Amino acid sequence: MRLLSIGAFARATRLTPKALRLYDELGLLPPAFVDPASGYRFYDPAQLERARLVAWLRRLGMPLARIRVVCALEPVRVAEEVATYWSQVEADTASRRDLAAFLIASLSGWNTDMTGAPEAFAIRYAARSDIGRCRETNQDSAYAGSRLLAVADGMGGGGDLASAAVIDALKPLETSLPAGDLLNALEQAVAQASATVGGLEEARPGSGQTGTTVTAMLWSGSQLALVHIGDCRAYLLRDGELFQITHDHTVVQSLLDEGRITAEEAATHPQRSLLLRAIDGSAVELDTSLHDAEPGDRYLLCSDGLTTVVSTEVIRDTLRGVADPEQAAARLIEAANAGGGPDNVSCVVADIIPLARHVGASPSSGR
Ligand code: MG
Repeated sequence: MRLLSIGAFARATRLTPKALRLYDELGLLPPAFVDPASGYRFYDPAQLERARLVAWLRRLGMPLARIRVVCALEPVRVAEEVATYWSQVEADTASRRDLAAFLIASLSGWNTDMTGAPEAFAIRYAARSDIGRCRETNQDSAYAGSRLLAVADGMGGGGDLASAAVIDALKPLETSLPAGDLLNALEQAVAQASATVGGLEEARPGSGQTGTTVTAMLWSGSQLALVHIGDCRAYLLRDGELFQITHDHTVVQSLLDEGRITAEEAATHPQRSLLLRAIDGSAVELDTSLHDAEPGDRYLLCSDGLTTVVSTEVIRDTLRGVADPEQAAARLIEAANAGGGPDNVSCVVADIIPLARHVGASPSSGR
């Protein structure tokens, strides 16, 4: 067997001798032979293949610990593992892209907010919550203010307290807007609420797992941050089209996503209210996103008491046709109750309206 010196092996694999020494120390690519007298490392030509794989994975940016896992796999599974790694990188990049967009916007334009200058938009809003036709209590909570919109749907014995607790935790964001990351602020408020909800179980023991869903939006300038967990929904009506911008965390939605049931079967599925995620005192797994608001946009946040009985078409037509947010929310709740009102129903409607240009807001305007 003819061994290669570390220099020759480095040239053949396009790895540096320094990198090869590191990989040796980590057990990733130990040399075939180390001269006991000189300490020189020598490599077997059969090691070239693994060394080249390591070099490629490093160029992909894969961490060394993960490369070690990949190298230990059967050759047929290596491609699969690289694909998994790469899809994770892309997902991470997408969320960092959103964060970067947020930072760029906040660093370039939002200084005006911090100095108390007028914002680009205002919101006109309404929140309504109704017990429905079948329930004895209303466990939903809904809130709308000039910066914050939220709907929460409580469950279990302390469900009403749980949904109120999450809204209460969010409300301080309305008056003291964080200077930094909006999503972070929302996430922290929800985490705080989760601790409160965890303590509610003891307040009303034996009445079922207490928890709540929440879907909330927080505005700053033209940017809005959205957090979501459970089966309340957020919709955007833009240019007459209705878009659902949250994804239900329900068993039925996951069956639908996997193509195991049809939309028709989902609508009547016996377990359609079974949640995969909620705020129940354990770790909270929130969906988070950032959106750009445009003048003319209309947002709807609603509990599942609306969407289980009122079709998307009726929701869209009501939001298109009823200009006043208060009336639109009332009309949607009427529709849910006309459909039997099987559950509590809450609706928050908010319109993005451009603010008139303030005289003197811009020193260079000359007007
Ligand atoms: Mg409900």
